This record gives sequence, C-alpha cells and structure tokens, in this order.
Amino acid sequence: MTQVMTLAIEGGSPVRKENYPVWPQYDEAEEQALLRALHQGTWWRATGQENTLFEKEFAHYHAANHAVTVANGTCALEIALQACGIQPGDEVIVPAFTFISTSMAVQRIGAVPVAVDVLADTYCIDPQAIENAINDKTKAIIPVHMCGHFCDMEAIMKIADEHRLVVIQDAAHAHGARGQLGKAVGEWDTMACFSFQNFKLMTAGEGGLILCPNEELRERAFLYSNCGRPANDRDYQHVVVGINARMSEFSAALLRCQLERLESQTIIRERNAAILTEALEDEPAVMLQQHTSDAVVHPHYMYMFTLSDDHVASIDRKYFVDCLIAEGIPAFVAYQAIYRVPNFSMPPCSAIPQEEYIQSCPVTEHIASRGVWIHHRALLGSEQDTLDVARAVKKVIKALG
Ligand SMILES: *Cc1c(COP(=O)(O)O)cnc(C)c1O
Repeated sequence: MTQVMTLAIEGGSPVRKENYPVWPQYDEAEEQALLRALHQGTWWRATGQENTLFEKEFAHYHAANHAVTVANGTCALEIALQACGIQPGDEVIVPAFTFISTSMAVQRIGAVPVAVDVLADTYCIDPQAIENAINDKTKAIIPVHMCGHFCDMEAIMKIADEHRLVVIQDAAHAHGARGQLGKAVGEWDTMACFSFQNFKLMTAGEGGLILCPNEELRERAFLYSNCGRPANDRDYQHVVVGINARMSEFSAALLRCQLERLESQTIIRERNAAILTEALEDEPAVMLQQHTSDAVVHPHYMYMFTLSDDHVASIDRKYFVDCLIAEGIPAFVAYQAIYRVPNFSMPPCSAIPQEEYIQSCPVTEHIASRGVWIHHRALLGSEQDTLDVARAVKKVIKALG
C-alpha cells in the first residue's frame, strides 16, 4: 500500500463507490406532513396551525420561550436587527469569516458592518477583536457559531453588557448546538437567527426562524415579517415599515418533521466527527477545526480543516477539493473573507480600507485561503463511510504533496 494510488480525477478508482447518505432526508413522515398541510385547506399561517406549532416546538427544543418563522435566514437577520432597533448608520460587529448574509443583512437595513478576526482554533469570532473594534457608533454584535461550533458566548455577553450592545446570534449552522455549560441557543437571552436552506441541518428547501428572548421582541420581529401588521388585524394597521417574509404552511409542516430527526442525526454526526478527527489528527498536511469547551454540542454543519502551511504551497486548494469530489466526497472550498467580497465595500460600508482589514484579520486570511469543508451528510453514515473521508483526504495529499 505504499505505492501512490491513481486519483479518481485522473481516471483511477474512487475511494467511494457509493454515494453518502443524500441530503435532505425524508420519509413517510414528511409526506404525511405535506398532506396534512394540504388538507388543512388553508395554506398560510394566518389561518393554519403549522407555523404556530413549529415555532413552539423549535423554541422549546432550543430552550427559548418565543420564535417567529420567516422566509429564510438572510431576512431573519435583517428582521432581528430591525426588531432590536438598529438604525441606519449604526455599526454592527461581525466576524470576517462567515457567509455574506451576516454582513449583508446589516447593510440592507442601512447599518454598517465592521468585520473582525476569528479565533485560530474554533474559527469563531474573537472576543478580543470585538473589544478592539468598539467605538461610539457600535450598537450590536452578530457572532456566528461556525460550522455549528459555539462561539465563546460568555466573553461576548460580558463585552455586550459592559458596552450596552445588542447581541444577535447567527445560528444558521447551529441547529441543536449547545455552548458553554451545555447552554442551548435560546439560553443566552438574545435573538438568534436560523436558516432552513437546502444544505442546512434542518431544511424545507428554504426557510428561516428567529428565536426571541421575550414577548415584546417576538411581537416586533413578527410585525417586521408581516408587512408591519399585527396578527389578527382587520383594520389595515401597519405600525412599522416591514416586509412580507412569512413562511408557508407547507414549509412549517416539513420542518416539524425535520426537527424530529435533528437529535438522532446530531448524535450520529458527533460520533462520526470524533472518528474522523481521530483518523485525521496525525495527518500533518491538515489542521482541523478544534472542538473546545466553548461547544458542548457541536452538530457539525460542516467538518472543516485547513491545509497546513507546509503543504499549501504545493497543493492548489481548488484542485484539492476537485480531487476530493472525484473521490466521492462532498467537499467545498471555505468562504472568502467577507471584506474581499464586492458588496461588503458598497454603501453603507465602513471607511476601513480592505488593506487594513487584511492586516487586522490574519486568521481569517489564513483559513479563507486554506479552508476546506466536508458537508454534514458525509457524517451521517457508518464508521466505515466516515473513515472513507479520511482515506480520500490522505490519498489526495499523498498524490499531490
Ligand atoms: C445560510 C446562512 C445564512 C443565510 O441563510 P439563508 O436561509 O440562505 O438566507 C446566514 N448566515 C450564515 C452563517 C449562513 O450559513
């Protein structure tokens, strides 16, 4: 086995001959839920049951008292910012390593995103970097639980309390995640935004939800998602400038089933992630996202690693990912630094030039240029299925390195 095996991309035999579990997963439960929603004979939340029940069930699972379903995770962030009273011109601190919606939602409401660096071990926002970026205009922080790994919320909440800042968790990767001391997303007393887009840990193809710490914020978030109109209003009262971001009854019905699957899938992913970590830990060409005590439950939206410095020069990352895909692994290149994405520098934007961001975000520069992730469906199979990911990674490194 010391000879180098031909890569699948070059016509060799792939490590995986069978596909990983497909995503999304569904069975008769989802079929019946869709029929149940259909036969309600009313397909929107104003008169149906599914959204209301899903909000209750999802909030309960995440130890929150209130939730509002919305059309997607991007508008969940916009609406949460509006509900919290963030105004045009206010500054909102976001991690530099995230999906663009985290910062774009801030711009969409006229506020200004300020990007700060992330931690080298967990890829989550660096509390010290938050502290350094705070000024008179700063009004909010949006920590992102990267790949499902909880941020250091103790430190973030302490900073927020000291400076009277709003915190909104971007929990688009973090369905069922738990942070320090096992605290669920709903136990940090902040709004938290989820996405149910097709790749996410629960899905209806599209969808979003905002957890709310109290009835007042829930009501405000609902108004912004409902054309500014209170529930049951018959007099065309529109009390804030909102949008229609309501979720349909079909999506909510599907998501109630997806929620039922979440816990058992999370247990499988956590088990398999540990197996994969053990198999890859001794591979010098990759540095794994570390699992620290900030995260008690890490649902692994993605399994993430970076190519290490010694190897990144000899391995082209995009080709590396293409090689993994040819071996049958659902691999992706990690996000760009958001300050390198064109719309981040379009107004409203901060006066901080890109060069300065590059200087102040060395960790983001590192992981955005070397990061690779494996979609969570590769962690939903058997131990052998999981070990095939490690085999494929090692095979490709050996051939390219
Ligand atoms: C997916 C995602 C969003 C946006 O959710 P959509 O439902 O796709 O609009 C926001 N933030 C992060 C970190 C995401 O990964």
